Amino acid sequence: MEGFLPMDVCHLPKGFQLKPGNHVDNSLDLWTRTDVQTCTQWKAPIIWDGIFNPIYYDEMYKKQNIVIGLTVFAVGKYLDLFLEGFLVSADEHFMPGFSVIYYVFVDDLPKLEEMKLGGRRKIKSFEIEKHKRWQDISMFRMKAISKLIENHIKHEANYVFCFDVDQRFEGRFGTEALSESVALLHAWYYRRPKYWYTYDSNPHSAAYMSTKGDFYYHAAVFGGTWQSVKNLTESCSQGIMQDKQKNVEAVWHDESHLNKYFWLHKPTKVLSPEYCWDQKIGWRRDIHVFRLLWAKKQYSLSRQID
Ligand code: UDP
Ligand code: MN
Repeated sequence: MEGFLPMDVCHLPKGFQLKPGNHVDNSLDLWTRTDVQTCTQWKAPIIWDGIFNPIYYDEMYKKQNIVIGLTVFAVGKYLDLFLEGFLVSADEHFMPGFSVIYYVFVDDLPKLEEMKLGGRRKIKSFEIEKHKRWQDISMFRMKAISKLIENHIKHEANYVFCFDVDQRFEGRFGTEALSESVALLHAWYYRRPKYWYTYDSNPHSAAYMSTKGDFYYHAAVFGGTWQSVKNLTESCSQGIMQDKQKNVEAVWHDESHLNKYFWLHKPTKVLSPEYCWDQKIGWRRDIHVFRLLWAKKQYSLSRQID
């Protein structure tokens, strides 16, 4: 397709070792997929279908008795439109067989109760202010998550994953995604040359990047240990506040700050776009499975805040 390049396929030498860290990741077969990049330059794995054994991953993490937190925000119309589909599908596909706590932020708690979403898993709900601008709703998640980790998650979970709500799980999103700090390749950019990447280019913003980074990451999914997600959300939130004081805003809001953070602090694991695919892109030979899909969205409807 025009404008698209094949990814740098790493030709990994025999005996190549990932950066020491998570010994479970030593089981990855980075050589099975020769059509895609399965490892970053800093030796973190990029997770694609076929390179991991889900049974082995689950067995190893079962021994550690881990708890995984999931954060999601559904404010204004997003509560009616997306939350139920997101959570019902998460019950089935997100970390199946593991202990998961959902942390749900809404602007209308009574409405959430009425929805009776109690599935198999524990839901902890929180009320959050409804900012007038959708950009602010999106950006203020960073601050809310860092406070949530401090007040709750650090006492009850080992890992946390943070999601946009306008999506639904379609396939396994399991323990193979766990690591200290986890970023996601943006489905629309993973095959594009770097000059397409839309990092922030305003030197007055804290998200400013003077150079093209490693990848363009999508803010719809990020995660890791609670310690690492706390550092990330605190740092992004500080950048956002600093920008507010200067009356500037990064081009893609929280996503620009996230990209800056992951440029300075390399993720220890990267997820392929299987983990957040947009079907509008059409068929791609390298996408063998959909694990999470973007929901169809009419911005005029969902972003209107009355
Ligand atoms: N969000 C929300 N209500 C809004 C706008 C945003 O709850 O009116 C939350 C929701 O979790 C959403 C996320 O912020 O998934 C990011 O916004 P959005 O999905 O609209 O951004 P996009 O994915 O289109 O960049
Ligand atoms: Mn979204």
